[in-house]
Amino acid sequence: MNAIPSRVGDQSSSDLGHDPDEFPTCPGCGYLRRIAGRCPECGMSYEAMLSLQDRGLRRVRARWTVVWVLLALYLPQCWIFMMPGSWSVYRWSWIAYWPVMPGFLPGVVVGRTVLGVGPESPAGIASMAAVTAALGIGAFMLARRSSTCRALVCTVLLGAGVAHAFVLHGLYSA
Ligand SMILES: [Zn+2]
Repeated sequence: MNAIPSRVGDQSSSDLGHDPDEFPTCPGCGYLRRIAGRCPECGMSYEAMLSLQDRGLRRVRARWTVVWVLLALYLPQCWIFMMPGSWSVYRWSWIAYWPVMPGFLPGVVVGRTVLGVGPESPAGIASMAAVTAALGIGAFMLARRSSTCRALVCTVLLGAGVAHAFVLHGLYSA
């Protein structure tokens, strides 16, 4: 390790044992660090730098978890776009449900049994939206725990979504 004196103080890089190459610029203020330990510009400690980096990584990981959960939730419901056949008014009436489609069948059940409404009513669509949101948020909360949880949650979501899509496709074609 090279111990070039800093602007403030003259700690050598060996006294803290941290490698300055890990944070060549301070993540707090962007100061180009030449020695290990506390940033001479803003005084940020090495531990704070680590936790800042950790928080950044967690944010990136959370963003990817959102992407994976949304894919698992919505990919199986893309059948309505991939179906052969004409883009009829009937088809568009199904596409209109797409944003709430992951919660379609559970939403119909909730609408019929709890609210006593059909799938075309606003309350019926609202219950589909509620189920979709609950699925998405619940899956995200579970998936964010670890990468194993994420893989498991997305696989289950995808499998259930495919089964759901098959039933919907049957209803659509009937
Ligand atoms: Zn700094």
